Amino acid sequence: MNKFGKVYIDTLDYWARAWAKESEGVDLTFARVGGRTSKAFPNRENVDFWQQTGPEWVQSYIDWRVANTDWKIWYTPEGAPAIELGLTPIFAGVPVKMVLDRVFEVNGDLVVVDLKTSQQTPTSTLQLGFYKLGLKQIFDIDVKYGAYWMARQEGTSALVDLSSYTEEKLEYLVGSFDKARKAGIFIPNTNNCNRCGLTEHCQFTSKK
Ligand code: SF4
Repeated sequence: MNKFGKVYIDTLDYWARAWAKESEGVDLTFARVGGRTSKAFPNRENVDFWQQTGPEWVQSYIDWRVANTDWKIWYTPEGAPAIELGLTPIFAGVPVKMVLDRVFEVNGDLVVVDLKTSQQTPTSTLQLGFYKLGLKQIFDIDVKYGAYWMARQEGTSALVDLSSYTEEKLEYLVGSFDKARKAGIFIPNTNNCNRCGLTEHCQFTSKK
């Protein structure tokens, strides 16, 4: 295989085909641009940034998979690989849609993994806890650990023990959210304002 900088020619080809497929018919003129300005990308993380960095991150994921042969993709009882696995478990009578990036089997333990391109590793593991309980409800399997695969760090965060997430806790959480929603009570969460599309209309936004 030939190498082109950090990225193999095949990866560039995969990237180009995936980009063409996903962006077909999509007008990116006013696409939201995230991230910070840098010397290389003064216009922040725009299309040019993604066209350069995207293939590098794909290559980095491939390299990580090749180097970690103990991490094997888990398959559902129906034989589907747990890649972008869509599930809709029900908590407190509320269907909760989720798409799990990956579920791996690592030396006998199941590990649910979310792929992230963000700068910071999430401080909350609640998302992984929901995935654990979703898998339990739909497939009756016990997931022990979760992790974030961080593209910018070219690997996984530390494994998180998900044993503290129980069906009872998530039922309470979802049930409380549902009651608040039905009562028209919405508590602002200012942790993710930078990624929110409502900042212009929100009096609580923390976005500068
Ligand atoms: S801008 Fe307002 S609605 Fe958006 S995330 Fe921040 S607090 Fe929530």
